[in-house]
Amino acid sequence: MDNIMETLSKFINNMSQEDYVIVGIVIVLALFLIHIYSLRQEKKKLITTVYAHVKVFQKAFESAKDAMLIVSDTYDVVYANQAMVSLLELDNNFLYQPLKNVPQINTGKNWVELDAFLESKKDRINQKLLSFPQSMLKVIKEKEVLVNVYIDTLVEESKCDTKYYIITMQDLTEVKKISEMAYQHKLTSMPNHMKAMQDIPVLFSKIHTQNNKIALALMQFDNFSRLRSIVGYEQSNEVIVTFSNYLTTIVSEMNVNVYHTFDNHFLLTISNVDSVEDVKELIIQLQTKLAKLYKIDDTSLHLTVSVGIAIYPESGPTRKLLDNTYKALDIAQNEGDGNIAVYLPSTFQNEFDELRLHNDMKSGLEKGEFEVYYQPIIDVENEEVVAAEALIRWIHPELGFIPPDMFIGLMEKTGFITKLGQFVLEEVLKQQKRWELFEFKPIEVSINVSMIEIATGEFVEYVDNQLRYHQIHPESIKFEITESIAMFSEVQTEKYFQQLKKLGVGISLDDFGTGYTSFTYLKKFPADILKIDKSLTDDIISNVDDQRIVHAIIELGHNLGMKVVVEGVETKAMSELLISYGCDYIQGYYYSKPLPVFEFQKLLR
Ligand code: C2E
Ligand code: CA
Ligand code: CA
Repeated sequence: MDNIMETLSKFINNMSQEDYVIVGIVIVLALFLIHIYSLRQEKKKLITTVYAHVKVFQKAFESAKDAMLIVSDTYDVVYANQAMVSLLELDNNFLYQPLKNVPQINTGKNWVELDAFLESKKDRINQKLLSFPQSMLKVIKEKEVLVNVYIDTLVEESKCDTKYYIITMQDLTEVKKISEMAYQHKLTSMPNHMKAMQDIPVLFSKIHTQNNKIALALMQFDNFSRLRSIVGYEQSNEVIVTFSNYLTTIVSEMNVNVYHTFDNHFLLTISNVDSVEDVKELIIQLQTKLAKLYKIDDTSLHLTVSVGIAIYPESGPTRKLLDNTYKALDIAQNEGDGNIAVYLPSTFQNEFDELRLHNDMKSGLEKGEFEVYYQPIIDVENEEVVAAEALIRWIHPELGFIPPDMFIGLMEKTGFITKLGQFVLEEVLKQQKRWELFEFKPIEVSINVSMIEIATGEFVEYVDNQLRYHQIHPESIKFEITESIAMFSEVQTEKYFQQLKKLGVGISLDDFGTGYTSFTYLKKFPADILKIDKSLTDDIISNVDDQRIVHAIIELGHNLGMKVVVEGVETKAMSELLISYGCDYIQGYYYSKPLPVFEFQKLLR
């Protein structure tokens, strides 16, 4: 080592100036080469790492269940994983060119080709990942798949800033199948109890605007456990399957949905029902047809089904309806095999129900469960809406939709009707003001008023104050009073009539034809309007007596200087007949059912 150092120092001492320069250059060059070499090594290492990562990602994408597609901004395919290749049925040469069969996407309304779809979302995608859950994908004509679609973008920051769309699709076919299975009865594949629970609220929600009757009918085989014990489990199941197939076929042409809810229970939901009798008739028809069918190994079995029916509104509020079919079924079965029973609250009327409704009324009014609906009244001269009747609706949080006939009487008994009446009057006056401000066509609104309210002695003053407070002209309000006014003494009645007349509001005599109003009363206390009750017009097309009575009432009303409204007009034929008798106004489902305010006011535009 000493020798080396000695030689080196001798060499340095003997070096000329040029030698120094040369050695310097050699050293710098060597250092530079070493630097380049290490850079290269690093790059090589980096490339190897990146390559390894790419392989890992590619492997992950390839085996991913979600289908992934990357396209350039000119819609050339840059990458598609295995799941996407099979979802879109891509052939081998799909890379670096546009898709041959461009799939279509439907996120709600229309089918759009994928390119056009991306183009339309271009600006939004720049900001965030877009998701389109439960969309439809159409690959070829016959292949439609339910998918969740997600779209993201990536801009490669190079000289030309290339943009890529990353499209991920989750195939929901299996999920759909499983969820469909959850709504099917295992034995018969019919819609099951869960499906019924999903569909019934939808059916009920239509009541609000359509006011249709709706029926639920629960069927059960009589003595089924005895059949099971005789023929065994397998064969009794066969009976159920045959029954379900037959039932499905029979009702397919009717306005009926069938559910296989439990073991040997079948539930029918029937919409657009006219009357209890119609439902009974339909069920008898089914029973007769079904009775012919039970056979095991060519041996006919005598099997019967009992049926419990609950009809809205006769059988109670909407959410009690299903429970009430069970009660009705119980009655039917107690009466013997093959029976039908309709649940009527009167058979079960107990204090509890009334007490409950009574307790819930006050809080219901405070919580906004009551709403005023409006039913148009049509002038026959020009077929225009000239007035409306305000009708109260109660949507109870647990019992659902409760028809007014179920609570008005109770409210009259307890005196709560005064509070309800005040609520309806205020709602109507506020609404009249809004219509006035927004320049809707002015109309008269009729409000039902119970004699209990008038008899408090404070009614007239209250109405007067409210009219002033809301600055509403008294002529835009009418009160509908039923014939029961005749139950009060003549003196009292005269007093109430005079007071109301003095206010300037109109008076309609409601439900005319059902009570005992005498001709003398009519003469002494003339109302502005006579409303002929629905019960007189129900059968007017076929019943000649009703035709004569209604015709006569219209003439009587006119002779006493009143205008006549006919209620409950449901068909064109009824409307035409009543117009020919000279009635002035028509109210009924034929023109419109009672509607929530936003629906109703469309008719005023
Ligand atoms: P109402 O005063 O006789 O009202 C007319 C009833 O007939 C309404 O029933 C209406 O929906 C129904 N209706 C109208 N056109 C037709 C038709 O073409 N076919 C059929 N089938 N029905 C028709 P709603 O709304 O169920 O009211 C029942 C009763 O409850 C009313 O009979 C009225 O007496 C009472 N009511 C409703 N709202 C109030 C209110 O705010 N206060 C008071 N005191 N009673 C009310
Ligand atoms: Ca009325
Ligand atoms: Ca009426």
